[in-house]
Amino acid sequence: MKGNIVIYGNIYTVDKKNPVASALAISDGKFVYVGDEEGVKEYIDKDTEEIRYDKGIILPGFGEGHGHIAPGGTEALFFVHLNPMGTLEEHLAAIKEFIEKHQELDVIQGSGFIPTPDMGPNGPTADLLNGMTDKPIVLADIGHHSYWVNHAAMERLGIDKNTPDISDGIITRDDEGNPTGYFREGAMDLLKELTVFSVEQYKEGFLHYQEEYLANGETLILDPIINWDTTDNAALACHELDMEGKLKMHVYAAYQVFQAAGHDTMAEIEHAASLREKTRGRMFELSNIKIQIDGTMPGTPSTAYMKQPYTDPWSVEHKHHGQLRFDMETLIKIYKKSHELGFTVHAHAIGDGALCMALDAIEKALEQTGPHDYRDAITHLQVVDRADIPRMAKLNVIASTDPHWFDMDPDYFGMMVAVLGEERAEDQLPMKAFFDAGVVVTSASDYPVTNPAYPLIGIQKGVLRQLPGRPDTLHGANERVSIEQMIEATTINEAYQMLCDDRLGSITVGKEADLVVLGDDITKCDPEHIQDVPVLGTMVGGEWAYRKEII
Ligand SMILES: [Zn+2]
Repeated sequence: MKGNIVIYGNIYTVDKKNPVASALAISDGKFVYVGDEEGVKEYIDKDTEEIRYDKGIILPGFGEGHGHIAPGGTEALFFVHLNPMGTLEEHLAAIKEFIEKHQELDVIQGSGFIPTPDMGPNGPTADLLNGMTDKPIVLADIGHHSYWVNHAAMERLGIDKNTPDISDGIITRDDEGNPTGYFREGAMDLLKELTVFSVEQYKEGFLHYQEEYLANGETLILDPIINWDTTDNAALACHELDMEGKLKMHVYAAYQVFQAAGHDTMAEIEHAASLREKTRGRMFELSNIKIQIDGTMPGTPSTAYMKQPYTDPWSVEHKHHGQLRFDMETLIKIYKKSHELGFTVHAHAIGDGALCMALDAIEKALEQTGPHDYRDAITHLQVVDRADIPRMAKLNVIASTDPHWFDMDPDYFGMMVAVLGEERAEDQLPMKAFFDAGVVVTSASDYPVTNPAYPLIGIQKGVLRQLPGRPDTLHGANERVSIEQMIEATTINEAYQMLCDDRLGSITVGKEADLVVLGDDITKCDPEHIQDVPVLGTMVGGEWAYRKEII
């Protein structure tokens, strides 16, 4: 067998059986040889293209364990982007400018604000947006855990004082019970109808994301909520791109299900199964069920679910632990049903209480279904009770961590201490502890919550746990991991999480030829320099999906 392409260089395979190589051959989109230069000779004939990289490193294509490309790609094109550190006045000016520029849009959407005191004591209000436009305005906060909307948005959907409260969210109201325009967690669903994008818009959004991230070495991604706007449009868009041969990244997706009133959780899982059959292709597969067990923090009040109450005065008074979006009985049913239908479950847990609950549910579901290679993942893992980590290893639950979040600005850390207390704030966002316990660890960014979310930025953050050149932002030095562990988390472990490690995730004979060529060896360079290392080329299935112009 002759190779179509032979590449020489410093090859770091992430294959434990054959960890380093100096030559590889690719034929029909797959690696057919990985070894030394002598051995590759027999794969060369007159038609073989030979490429030599004298410096740098060649790695398997990078993965993203949790990146919301459905909203992210479209947002990049069709959203007003608010600066999280901006003032209310700056937000209003940005929204005004966007409305003037985008007369074609029927709904004005945006994201990026942080609810600050100048917006009002109970979060931002519709009144603040008066006089801007007659069209609905829907703005997501930076973490996408709340919407700030105008009166036109509420009027279009008939939301008023008679709208009943939501069991897994908060409709902020004034003294008379009128919604003020600030909808949190499950209450965001009331507005979803206004946030729908068309299949065409999603296609544009995906292509936009793909171009940017292939140029940064990413070849594999899990979109954790493909039904972001409650429609099937994003899944259908991925499928169409796949059929048209335009999807150059491997995209796995999760379908989010809910328990709140108005949702039939089991029917939603069944719908996901039929959508999976309808959309499965070479580069796209709906393979996960997503559940959001708790909320986020800090907030007024915080909604991530803790074993011990929060420490801010209001929470102490109310013994507030956060908010759960599922009860245990339903969680067990979700795991069981998902497993029966061949789905992996991807669970959002920010608080230690939510993590523990997920593990209890998995344990109980497995008692009923028997052990199987399900590879359920739990993501975010911000506050973790160390006692639960060995349980994750035992249940083969993947830790989908967010290295992109590992730095801690002193001001932000102060906010976290206020709600968590010193000890829990200090102990947030572990990574090494998972590796040490034998848990499979993956790397995620939660894009577009993190934006940009390039893999090399995540790798540097995981190794240093501080912002570039900012030692004052170092958080949890004893949770720093090695560069080798970060590479593992960003390649083979991502493929393991997405159940495609038999064909992706390492440079191994027989696997699809996905790789990234970096201009510097990130295993040897100054870690402060990792995120600046140029990506020289990204290959998917033996074809260059990106190649840097060499000037
Ligand atoms: Zn997310």
